[in-house]
Amino acid sequence: MEKVALLKCTGYEVDQIERKLREGFELLGGQAFLRELIPADSKVLLKPNFLSVVEKGSPIITHYAVFEAVVRIVKEYSDNISFGDSPGQEDTRKAAEKSGFMEIADKYGVKFADFNQAVHCELDKPLMYKYWDIAKAPHEADVVITLPKLKTHAMMYYTGAVKNQFGCIPGGQKAGWHTKLPDSASFAKMLLDLNSLVKTSFAILDGIVAMEGNGPRNGTPRQMDTLIMGKSVTAVDSTAVRLIGYENVLSIPVLKAAQDSKWGTVLPEEIEVLGESIENMKSRDFKLSRNAKVVNFLTPGLTSLVSSLTAPDPVLVEEKCIGCKKCDEACPEKSKVISFIKHDGKIIPKWNYSKCIRCFCCQELCPKGAIVTRDKALARVLGLNRR
Ligand code: SF4
Ligand code: SF4
Repeated sequence: MEKVALLKCTGYEVDQIERKLREGFELLGGQAFLRELIPADSKVLLKPNFLSVVEKGSPIITHYAVFEAVVRIVKEYSDNISFGDSPGQEDTRKAAEKSGFMEIADKYGVKFADFNQAVHCELDKPLMYKYWDIAKAPHEADVVITLPKLKTHAMMYYTGAVKNQFGCIPGGQKAGWHTKLPDSASFAKMLLDLNSLVKTSFAILDGIVAMEGNGPRNGTPRQMDTLIMGKSVTAVDSTAVRLIGYENVLSIPVLKAAQDSKWGTVLPEEIEVLGESIENMKSRDFKLSRNAKVVNFLTPGLTSLVSSLTAPDPVLVEEKCIGCKKCDEACPEKSKVISFIKHDGKIIPKWNYSKCIRCFCCQELCPKGAIVTRDKALARVLGLNRR
C-alpha cells in the first residue's frame, strides 16, 4: 500500500504548519523515512507553484509559510537547498520576491534556482516523449520536493502534485506543449513523463486555502484546512481530488492516464491515508472545474471526440477586461484565435472558437479574472456540467 499523510492545519501560521508536517513525517516513518528521503548533503530542490507575480499570501500560489515550514525541516538533513519554478510568462525572481519566498530563502540560506537555463535530456521508457528540454535545476537535483497548491484547472480539471512539475519546462516553451498536445489525455501523459524525468521524490500539497471554481488563477479561495504529503505524486493527487468531491478519481485526466499506464499509485484502495480521515475532511460543496463522469465509460477514441465537443469555451466578462492583451500573449495558437475589437469605447478580445484548442492559458494568465469558462449545451446534456 502506498502511504499518504492527511493533516488538518487551520491557518498559515508557520509554527503550526511545521508541527503538522512533523506529525505527517512521523506517520510516514519518522527520522528513518526522512533520512532515506533526503540522504546527507544531497542537493534538494523545493518546487513551489508560482503561477504569476502576486502578493504575499495570494491563494493562487503556494503559501510562503508552507515553504518556510518545509525549509525548517529539510535543513536538518541537508544544507544544500534551492527553490524555483518557471511561471508561464513572468519573471520567477520577481514572483519569488513579491510573494515573500525570497525573504525566507535569504533567512535560511536557501538558494534561488534559475529555471530559465535548459538542458537537453532523454527519458528511458517514456509514455510519450523520449527527448526533452527541461530546466537544469530540477534535472540536476538529487531530491525534488514539489510543493503544489490545491486548485481547480479549466483544462486538467484539477492541479496539484503531478501538474506542478509543468513549471520545470522553461518559460516560453510551455505554450509549445499546449499546441502539440491540445487534448487533456495526451497532456496528462506528457506530465507523467515529465515527473519521471524530474524524479519528484516527495509532495507536500498546500490545501489550507484551496481554490475552487474558475481556477487556477481566477477562482475563489476556499478554506480546506488541508495538507497532504507523500512520496507518490499520484497518490497525493488521488487523495486531494476525493477531498474536493470527485467520487471517481479516474475523472481526472492525469489520474486516468496514470492508471491506464500503470504509472504510480492512483486507486483509493491501494492508498493508505494516515492521520485524518477523508470522510471528516471532505468538502461536500466544493465548486469543481468540471465533472467528467460520463467520459470515463467511453473508449479512448470516443473520449477524445466527446472531450473536443464538450470542452467549455473561454468567454469574456467584459466589465472586468482592461484591454491589456495578455490573453493573446499567453495563447499558444497566437493570432489565430484571439483578435481585438472595439466595443463601448474599449478594446476587448474576441475568440475564434473553431481555432481554439481549449488549453485555457488565456484564462489562466488574465490578470483581471476577465475570462471564465462556459459549458457547451452538449456537456450539460451529458451531465458534465460543473456544480
Ligand atoms: S481578457 Fe484579460 S488578459 Fe485579455 S485583454 Fe482583457 S484583461 Fe487583458
Ligand atoms: S484562446 Fe485561450 S483556450 Fe483558446 S487556444 Fe488560445 S489560450 Fe488556449
